[in-house]
Amino acid sequence: MRIALIDTNPKPKVYPVALLKLGAWRRKKGDECVLFANTLPKPGEFDTIWLTTTFTYDLKHSLGMAIAAKKRAERVRVGGIAATLLPEVFRKHKIDVHEGLVPEAEECAPDYRLLPEPPEYAITHTSRGCVRKCDFCMVKKLEPRFESRGKWENDLPKDTTRVLFYDNNWLAKPIRALKADTDKLRALKKAGRVDWIDFNQGLDARLMKGQRAELLRDLPFAFLRFAFDGMHEDGHFQEAIKNTRAIGYRNVRTYVLYNFRDTPSDFYYRLRECARLSEEFDMSVTAFPMRYQPIAEADLGRNYVGKHWTERMKKNFMMYTTTISSGAMFSFGGSPSIGMSRIDEFEFWLGKDEHEFLRLLNYPKLSALLKRKKVDLRMRRAHANEAKRKGKTK
Ligand code: SF4
Repeated sequence: MRIALIDTNPKPKVYPVALLKLGAWRRKKGDECVLFANTLPKPGEFDTIWLTTTFTYDLKHSLGMAIAAKKRAERVRVGGIAATLLPEVFRKHKIDVHEGLVPEAEECAPDYRLLPEPPEYAITHTSRGCVRKCDFCMVKKLEPRFESRGKWENDLPKDTTRVLFYDNNWLAKPIRALKADTDKLRALKKAGRVDWIDFNQGLDARLMKGQRAELLRDLPFAFLRFAFDGMHEDGHFQEAIKNTRAIGYRNVRTYVLYNFRDTPSDFYYRLRECARLSEEFDMSVTAFPMRYQPIAEADLGRNYVGKHWTERMKKNFMMYTTTISSGAMFSFGGSPSIGMSRIDEFEFWLGKDEHEFLRLLNYPKLSALLKRKKVDLRMRRAHANEAKRKGKTK
C-alpha cells in the first residue's frame, strides 16, 4: 500500500514525530510511505492519506486539507491533537478520525529517513501522560495514563547529538525511573551520542527539589524550562530557580500563562519574578508568555478574552511581544552603562508596579509610547558611551 503522511500544520516548526512513527510502523508492514509538509499529493498517487493535526485554532485549515484529500485517495484518516479533541468537526464531513495515540506506532522509533534531509535533532518521550490535571491543559484527555516508556534511547538516530524530549512531566516519574533516565543520559553524553537536550514541555517546578533536582546535575541541558502558570505555583517556582542555580545551571525559560483565570496584576507579578530572580541569582530567567486559548472548542479567530482581561489589554500585551521580546521571549539583561539593573529595565518597559502595568495595558497609543521608550533608551546608552569615550581620550 502507498501511504501519504501529511502534516497539516500551516507553519511547521518541529518534525511531525507522530507521522515519523506511523511511517516506521507501516514500513515494517511493507507499505511505502512519503511525508508531506502542509501539502497534498496528486489525485490517485497514493491509496491512503493520513493527516495529522495540532492546534484547534488551525482546524479550519486541517479540515480543508482533509476534505481535499478525500478527492485524491480512496482512504483518508485524520489524527493528532486537534482531531482527538474535536473529532466531530471531521466526522460531520464523513472523514475517518483516529483519537489518541496509535499503540503500534508508539512502539516504533521515528523513521527520520522520511525527512528530506538528515535530522538536526531527535525527538523522544521517556513518559506519556501527567500526574496532574491542570484545568487549562488537555494532556488528561490526550494521554490519560501517566506511564514510563522504556528504551527511549532507541528513538535516537546516529545523525544527531541533539535531543528534544516531549515528556509532559518528566520529574513526576518514580525516583528510580528518573535515576535510570539520568544515568542513561550521562552514559550517552560520555559516549558522544548526546550533547544537547531540551525538555521542551517544561519541568514541573513543584518537583524541582531534593533528590530529583540533584539527579539533574551535569546533564547537557541547553536550558531548563519551567512554567509559572498561576499563583498556585508561587513559592515553588522561586524555589525551583534557586535549586536550578545550586546545581550549576544559569539558563531558564519560563512559560507564563495569561488570559486564563489570572488577573493582569498576578501576570505582572509572575513576569517580574522572572526578572527579579535573574538578578538575585545572576542568571537568565526568560519569560515566555503563553496566551490562553480554549482548546476543547474551536476558536478559529483566536478571539478568546479571559475573564479579567479585555480586548484592548490583550492587544496591548501582544504589542509588547512584537516590540520588546525576542522570539516571543522576554529577557531583561539591564544596561550597566546607564546604571540600569535588570529589574530597572523590566520596570522601564512594563511599569513600576501592577497599577502602572494596568495603565499601560489600557493605554490607547501604546505602540507610539513603546517607540518613544526605545528611542529614549538608545539615546541614554549612546550618551553614556560617548561620555565614556571622551573620558578615555582626555
Ligand atoms: S503539569 Fe503540565 S502537563 Fe501536567 S496537567 Fe499541568 S500543564 Fe498539563
